[in-house]
Amino acid sequence: MPAEFFSEISDAATIPNYYYFDGSTWKASGSGKSVPVVSPIDNAVVGTLPIVTHEEIDTVLQVAGDAQAAWEATPLFKRVGIIHLAADWIRHFQEYMGNLLIREIGKSSDEAKGEIVRTADLIDYFADEAQSIQGTTLDSDNFPGFEKGRIAMIERVAHGTVLAIAPFNYPVNLTASKIAPALLMGNSVVVKPPTQGGISATHLVRIFQKAGVPPGVITTLTGTGEVIGDYLVSHPKVSMVAFTGNSDTGLAIAGKAAMKPLLFECGGNNPVVVMPDADLAATAREIIKGAFAYSGQRCTGIKYVLTTPAIRDQLVAIVMKTLPEMVKAGDPRSPDTKLVGPVISEEAAKRIEEAIAVSVKNGATLVTGGKRDHAMIEPTVLTGVIPSMPVIAKETFGPVVSFVDVASFDEMASIINRSSYGLQASIFTKDEGTGLVFAKKLHVGTVQINGSPQRGPDHFPFLGVKNSGVGVQGVRYSLEAMSRIRPIVLNKPQ
Ligand code: NAP
Repeated sequence: MPAEFFSEISDAATIPNYYYFDGSTWKASGSGKSVPVVSPIDNAVVGTLPIVTHEEIDTVLQVAGDAQAAWEATPLFKRVGIIHLAADWIRHFQEYMGNLLIREIGKSSDEAKGEIVRTADLIDYFADEAQSIQGTTLDSDNFPGFEKGRIAMIERVAHGTVLAIAPFNYPVNLTASKIAPALLMGNSVVVKPPTQGGISATHLVRIFQKAGVPPGVITTLTGTGEVIGDYLVSHPKVSMVAFTGNSDTGLAIAGKAAMKPLLFECGGNNPVVVMPDADLAATAREIIKGAFAYSGQRCTGIKYVLTTPAIRDQLVAIVMKTLPEMVKAGDPRSPDTKLVGPVISEEAAKRIEEAIAVSVKNGATLVTGGKRDHAMIEPTVLTGVIPSMPVIAKETFGPVVSFVDVASFDEMASIINRSSYGLQASIFTKDEGTGLVFAKKLHVGTVQINGSPQRGPDHFPFLGVKNSGVGVQGVRYSLEAMSRIRPIVLNKPQ
């Protein structure tokens, strides 16, 4: 069934062959150029992605723009039906899609399955919530000096064509989290998938097309960000850019997107604060899971722990005792592997190895790990880290957690607030009042009290401040962000 369903994009040699709608027929890219997708597990080529030409980008964006008005005019209940059908198809192909994720980005079977199931649930929730998004009216006489008689009718309308750019670490979920709200609010969507993860994301788009989104309203444009990214982002026919990726890429894209609305989720460098009254055993488990799940390649991963030297000694001892039970590095396809597999590429692993080595050279203590084998980085724990060391000055997207010694509450807040990142922070304490007081001192998107940084449940608001993002996501917030208000003012007849 998957092979038939995905017949245009699935063939053994070149998964996926890429097709776009040029306004009258489906066409494969004629660029003759492509980029291989290499599995981080064994370096095997999983498939190739065509690198589309600028002319093909122009065609696709012209068609997307032309198709958008009719899509927005399609009754909402029909659009909702199509989006629910896409969620059903995703569930139907859970195993197939999950296997693609395992090969393409090295997720474990549980993580891959989790991403697919969560994506289908998210899409359904979006479709349900979209039905309660409504306009409003305002009367004029509330404002001093104005009589009754003017009415502002405020509707929510689409932006136009949304460019959706997703990262490698959740190529299905973070593509769907852009596609679904954009389509539900009446936009057309052009997806620029990550190169690594692009095969899974292309299949996801095909599911939306097969579920009934009309040709041209949703299209994938493949190619590396380096080659096609700038042209796409600055293209006049792109009305909005929804991006997830690292902060440096986000900053560069923001500079090119000019006056387009932006919805960006970027890097996280998330700290955890451990107060002396915290349950250290429970906190240690949260730290291990938060730091090492999917090999530390999560924007909400725990990157550093702030606590006093006395608590750090006890906590690190518990972490080290608990680590072998919770973490076993290895091939993500093996049932014995727990939390840590290869990072996305050997180049990424070399960067992580270097950040660890330089931090140790500058005075950090390696408690465990630090070594690299191809794309595998040993689960690594460092102590004596200071904020200027590379391992936490920049987001280290790998299985590394750093302990930073602090003397006071104020010092913790100051370190967190001085960071250029601001996605999430956590505080562990038995006293929720202390947690609340501390939370209000922090300049980050979300503060978790007695829980790890995390995205979800997906209808909660999710945002980053500073270099961690622009705009707010979370089901209703994303629907609002993917639309704008259109006020029409009825004045008194002359
Ligand atoms: P990345 O290198 O920034 O790439 C993200 C996406 O941007 C990819 O599709 C990439 O395409 C594309 N891209 C690269 N250069 C571009 C350009 N000049 N113009 C347009 N697009 C361009 O990030 P990543 O390594 O895939 O993902 C990991 C990062 O994402 C981490 O920093 C992580 O924290 C962040 N992230 C944040 C969140 C959040 O919710 N805040 C969630 C997940 C991930 P190519 O793959 O073809 O280069």
